[in-house]
Amino acid sequence: MDIAKIATDTATQRWSRRRFMGGAVSVAALGSFATACGSGADQPASAPTPGAPGAPLSGTSASPGSAPATSGVDADLIRQRYEGLAPFAPAPAPPAVKPITLSASDPTVFSHVPMTGKVVFITIDDGIEKDPQFIQMVKDFQIPLTISLADVLIRDDYAYFEKLYETGYISIQNHTVTHPLDMPGLPASRQLYEISGQQEKLRKEYGVTPYIFRPPGGNYDATTIASASEAGLKGLMLWKEAMQITDMEYQTSAHRLKPGDIILCHFRGPAQLHGETMVHMMIRLYKHIQAQGFTVADVTKYV
Ligand SMILES: [Zn+2]
Repeated sequence: MDIAKIATDTATQRWSRRRFMGGAVSVAALGSFATACGSGADQPASAPTPGAPGAPLSGTSASPGSAPATSGVDADLIRQRYEGLAPFAPAPAPPAVKPITLSASDPTVFSHVPMTGKVVFITIDDGIEKDPQFIQMVKDFQIPLTISLADVLIRDDYAYFEKLYETGYISIQNHTVTHPLDMPGLPASRQLYEISGQQEKLRKEYGVTPYIFRPPGGNYDATTIASASEAGLKGLMLWKEAMQITDMEYQTSAHRLKPGDIILCHFRGPAQLHGETMVHMMIRLYKHIQAQGFTVADVTKYV
């Protein structure tokens, strides 16, 4: 009770302090941002997402129009605020034994989780866009999201991600201090700084200890893995699909989600999305997922 209030007050104070720090600090570092995370150039928005608005999730008991699919999710509110979407079906119970075992002594590189259910995992990188309406969207849908943050992109407003984290649906992971897309080949000392430095910043700002490293652009080498290990991280998380402005970029010609796929998207806003908002991009992502009959689970319960 009081703890929550204190936390809120603290966040408010930090916000007040930080908003005077200005937003220009990260801009200079973003010359390479347009291609950050290496998922290909965004295409201008084309045709609207096909698919069946509000279609029930096949293979589940979800029944849009009746009971909420996820405990506490307001199905009517979802339909009103996010046209074409329904609540996600409840995620299956997490496995008793994680399909991927991670260890800091030998970090594993993974891009999907071996499983059979129609479940995918959503990961959101970087942090340049800080859309308050996205926090509301997270509260509305109540699905787990994993965010990998780079200090250079969040330091102008740490408080935004604190508010996001406080929703209870967010796992915070490590995406380096300065987002170098050329991690492979950087000296070991620099790679270690990028990872261990971000561990320290995330611990200081949010009280978290990430165990998953998302290499910028998905670029890594043996030194990166060794540095992650030395920094106490247990795995390097890549991805199978990358969300663009409208369309999903698949790595296979089938252009379909598969059980256990990890999806990459980014905190992006109008400046990166040709005028589109983060929320609109996420609506399209959610439509892609729902149209294929999938729901979303927490990757930290599986790795
Ligand atoms: Zn990135």
